[in-house]
Amino acid sequence: MTRLQYTCPGCGTPLGYEGLCWKCKSEQERNAALAWTPEQITEKQRNLIQNIQRLAEMEEPEFTDFWQLLSYHNAIAPEIQRAALAAGVLWPCEIYYHAPKDVRDGLIHALLSTEDSNGASQLMSCLAMQGDDKAMETLLELERNPRPWRKNLYVDPSSYAQIGGWTFDKEGRRTQLNFDICYPMVKGVSGEASPVRIGRARKDTCPHCGGRMVDMLVLDGRDERLQFLGLDGILTATCCPSCVGFLKGPAFNSFTPDGGVEVFPSELFDGAEKADCYVSPEDYKALTENPFVLGKTPVPLFYGAACQDVNTIGGFANWVQDAEYTTCPHCGKPMKYLAQIQWDTVFDCAEGTLYVEFCPDCQIVSMQHQQT
Ligand SMILES: [Zn+2]
Ligand SMILES: [Zn+2]
Ligand SMILES: [Zn+2]
Repeated sequence: MTRLQYTCPGCGTPLGYEGLCWKCKSEQERNAALAWTPEQITEKQRNLIQNIQRLAEMEEPEFTDFWQLLSYHNAIAPEIQRAALAAGVLWPCEIYYHAPKDVRDGLIHALLSTEDSNGASQLMSCLAMQGDDKAMETLLELERNPRPWRKNLYVDPSSYAQIGGWTFDKEGRRTQLNFDICYPMVKGVSGEASPVRIGRARKDTCPHCGGRMVDMLVLDGRDERLQFLGLDGILTATCCPSCVGFLKGPAFNSFTPDGGVEVFPSELFDGAEKADCYVSPEDYKALTENPFVLGKTPVPLFYGAACQDVNTIGGFANWVQDAEYTTCPHCGKPMKYLAQIQWDTVFDCAEGTLYVEFCPDCQIVSMQHQQT
């Protein structure tokens, strides 16, 4: 084992190098971007328009500027979207979120002209982000009358629409899959009340590893800030923090507005009966005593989409782009995206993200784990 001879000056975590830990560094960068003045934002926007093709390179400062403008200032102006379209920049597709009609029509024209499956895939993602009724009509038409490029893609246009947080059925009925309000979880003071809690201890144990189950999210929808969720009571998402990443599919439970939970049976992905429990008593303690409380004010919808250290309710997740929304095991409809919990924010050296979705009709929650 390497000796950890340094400590992070931000949080006191032992480190093998001098300087801030990655979480404190990420927080510092976010705070710097959040503090941009209106003049600085205008300057960043102008620079991005001039160098829009540099977005293709993750190492370029424009790439970081783009994500910070989007995530922390909701400042991807129509001129940026027009410049991107004119330069043929189709990635990241988030550039085109709610782009104006002329940009949408440009995307539609390009999509209907392309014969290339990669191009079609990128353009459908962009159109999903644009997301208005005409964007839906175009995707619906392509689903009903597939072009030759469709056979080289894994999923239908209605699945591409999910990238933009919505989808449609065969009759062309639209469903919204994410919420257009986003709240961050922030570090509170000890004993601070919060309508959302991450990581509440439970007494029951996991049938696979014998470790303790945890209420990963307990959310009281009656709080004024959470009215947008349309929940008239408490939503509880319960799983085994050790096994949730090793299940065949997501973990599910049903919930009742009075706080009740029924965990659905699950299987390990490798078909084994038993698994080891990887969560130590110290980890359980850190997880169930974490300081996070619901933030007082909403943030831009992509606030949690550009970093690995922010837990959010609503808005967009940072999930990998080909992720599909979970299908409700009861009604078969796609579930709504509710929250992301970054494991490393609740216990050290844990990797990946837990995505929480729910079906409001059936009062069922799903939790899926992803890591890059
Ligand atoms: Zn730190
Ligand atoms: Zn377990
Ligand atoms: Zn359902």
